[in-house]
Amino acid sequence: MQDADDDPVGCPFDEGRETATPPETFAIGSPGRPPDTPGWRVRVVPNKFPAFGPWPRDGDRPEGLFARRAAVGRQEVVVHSPRHVRTIADLGVRELELVAEAWQARAEAARETGFEYVHALVNEGAGAGASLPHTHSQLVWLEEVPPLVAQEHELVKASARCLLCQVLEEERSQRMRVVEERDGVILLCPFAGRQPYEMLAAPLECEEDPFTSGNLAAALVLAAGGVRRLREAEGPVPLNIWLHAGGHWHLEILPRLGVLAGVELGAGYFVNTLAPESAAGMLRES
Ligand SMILES: [Zn+2]
Ligand SMILES: [Zn+2]
Ligand SMILES: [Zn+2]
Repeated sequence: MQDADDDPVGCPFDEGRETATPPETFAIGSPGRPPDTPGWRVRVVPNKFPAFGPWPRDGDRPEGLFARRAAVGRQEVVVHSPRHVRTIADLGVRELELVAEAWQARAEAARETGFEYVHALVNEGAGAGASLPHTHSQLVWLEEVPPLVAQEHELVKASARCLLCQVLEEERSQRMRVVEERDGVILLCPFAGRQPYEMLAAPLECEEDPFTSGNLAAALVLAAGGVRRLREAEGPVPLNIWLHAGGHWHLEILPRLGVLAGVELGAGYFVNTLAPESAAGMLRES
């Protein structure tokens, strides 16, 4: 993203500056490369500034404070490229495939360590919470499914047939909110989009686990393509992308063009000033 104070000199995510981050936990690079040296293509390091601290919970944990701390998990940063690339939109297909591979490898490590859920996300632009203008994602290891995802799972379970499968079937027959469909995945502007140009990328097949899926890379490629289309339509926009695992997994892409204010945050009504059909049309054309 273009931040006014963007200065690649001293960027801790660039190749050659490996000692500026905590020691890596995983990397994809040339065989035999020593850790924390150049020659990597994707690199995973612990987050220096984790956003989660111990927080009070509603008495559902008899184990006390220790359990509360344990529930917090850990956070890792996945550096998407050794080059100073500002946005996921500027990564090539091969680079995005390596990002998917890193997410999957670290999710496996998280599960082996007892963390049931990994929340994968991308923040881009200072207005969306990004601290550094070098494309990266975060993996938050959690001991339980986070509340919003649990809510989605309830919805999916409540209907006889997967809700997202039904939505995708409908969208594919109407096409007006579909941006792109390719390689077993689809990108669309959801009917109930909360913000202008909100997008969703999902596999056409009903799959629960993105971390063992062969479609995760294709979904990231479509999502990054959506961000590129959005930039062509509107210029650089701060945005968040996150992965929802379980149910029928998907990526949600939320551009931060509007301001979330009292109606949205307090009542849960999202005032979207751009119809998703128009948004999809503009994204298809750009
Ligand atoms: Zn950089
Ligand atoms: Zn489904
Ligand atoms: Zn979701």
